[in-house]
This record gives sequence, structure tokens and C-alpha cells, in this order.
Amino acid sequence: MTTHHTTTDNTTPPQRERTGKVVLVTGASSGIGEATARRLAAQGHHVVLTGRRTDRLHTITTDLTDHGHTAEARTLDVTDRDAFTELVSNVTATHGHLDVLVGNAGVMLLSRLESLLVDQWDRMLDVNVRGLYNGIAAVLPHFNDRRSGHVITIASIGAHQVSPTSAIYSATKYAALALTEGLRQEADPSIRVTTVSPGVVESELADHITDTHAAELMVGYRAAHIPSDAVARAVAYAIDQPADVDVNEIIIRPTAQR
Ligand code: NDP
Repeated sequence: MTTHHTTTDNTTPPQRERTGKVVLVTGASSGIGEATARRLAAQGHHVVLTGRRTDRLHTITTDLTDHGHTAEARTLDVTDRDAFTELVSNVTATHGHLDVLVGNAGVMLLSRLESLLVDQWDRMLDVNVRGLYNGIAAVLPHFNDRRSGHVITIASIGAHQVSPTSAIYSATKYAALALTEGLRQEADPSIRVTTVSPGVVESELADHITDTHAAELMVGYRAAHIPSDAVARAVAYAIDQPADVDVNEIIIRPTAQR
């Protein structure tokens, strides 16, 4: 008599249920965004890497997919609200949903106020604040519909303290912290909201400073730094928590930073 067992065919590996999330990272072409995209992809999430330097995004994405991870590159200037909304619609249409937005894109064009580099003040406000809430506006309707989602903002230690040359940058980061915390309080209780505030992290951030005095100050200030992956690990930690645990805020800086 033949006994029938429900078994898995030895020649076919069992289908693994996909547990990875769909994560959109802004400013993923370098520094903290790139490290975050790499870490999350390596952990099994599907990462949508965005930024303006499409060539870099493609290089990183190709490297990730060559290593068996799942990732895609999409050109996005976060100051373009319509483009942000369209991209989120496109991602949700393609993948069925979006789980996490990492609002990381940012610029730090330090100078003393008396330098009157007002175009750079505008730039920081546009990217660090408008770029951030453009992202929130793009994902919130989708997160509300699904009653699920996670917004992670990369703010800064500059969201907690001001020093000479950082007035406008810190103003944008205080704003980033305020609007992320406001979202946490207002959002549907099923939506998680996290602010990560890094201290000095190795990246290209300070390379764009044009003010000589501020650039000189940065040499000493940035001497002690941590790798971008240190922040990526903090982001991964927040994502990894169970749905009922919301890591509200993390400050992470070099041990030697005062
Ligand atoms: P990088 O300069 O290496 O990265 C900045 C990223 O922002 C780039 O990928 C850049 O991509 C992107 N970006 C800039 N402008 C735009 C835009 N208009 N639209 C879309 N993307 C844009 O620096 P970091 O990795 O250090 O910076 C990441 C975040 O971390 C920033 O918000 C920064 O303020 C914050 N931070 C960094 C600290 C540090 O010490 N490094 C400390 C505290 C906070 P692209 O040019 O391709 O568009």
C-alpha cells in the first residue's frame, strides 16, 4: 500500500516567503544614503536608490544586484514635489506597496551669516526642509491607506545645537526634527516615525562648502568621524523592530566628539 506524504520535491528548493520591505532612500548616491541602501539591500530589503547623480546610483545598484540583492536606481531631485509624488506612485504600482521612506538627502553649506551667501541658505532650506516634506507628502496618503509605513529622517546633531557658521544649516535640521516629530504625533498610530541625528560622519557633505572660514573650521571639527555604515546600522535597527515598537530618535556620534 502506498502512503502519500505531503513533501517538498527534493529537486525544487522550498519557496521562501519574501519578508524584505520596499524601502526608498533619498540621496543614496553617496555617504549615509549609499551606506544605508547597501546595508538594507544586504539584509534582504528591496531598495529604491534615488538622487540626482544617476550614474552613481546605477553603479551602486549594479554592484548590489551582482551580489544577489534586489535594488533599483531612480533619478530624483527631492526639491521637485511632482517628481517625488510620481516616483512614489510608480514604486507602489510596481511593487504593490512602499514600506519605508528614508529622508536622507541633504546639503551643508556652512558660513557665518555676515557672509550673506543667501543663495546657499535657500539651497539648504529647499533640500533639507522642502525636500523632506515633499517626501512626507508623497508617501503619507499611501501609508494612511495601508495603515502601515515608516518615515525615517536623517537630521543631524545640528538639530540639537548651533555653533558659529551653522545657523542656517542648524535651522534646517531643527525644522527637520520638528516636522518629523510633528508627524509622529499626528500620524495614524500604525505609522512609525524615526529621527536619526548623526554627529560627524565620513562623507562628501563638507566638500561643497565654499566659505573659506567655515571650510577651515571643518578640518579640525571633522577630524574624528565615524563611517557612514554606523548610521546605516541605526536605520536598520529602527526598521528591524516589531511593528508595535517605534524607535523615535537616535543620536549617534563619534565617541571622541564633544
Ligand atoms: P553626502 O554629500 O555624501 O550625501 C548627500 C546626498 O544628498 C547625496 O547622495 C546627494 O545626491 C543628495 N542630494 C543633495 N541634494 C539633493 C537633491 N536636491 N535631491 C536629491 N538628492 C540630493 O553627505 P552625507 O551622506 O553626509 O549626508 C546625508 C545626510 O546626512 C544629510 O541630510 C546630512 O545633512 C546628514 N548628516 C550628515 C552628517 C555628516 O557628518 N556626514 C552629520 C549629520 C547629518 P545627488 O548629489 O546625487 O543628488
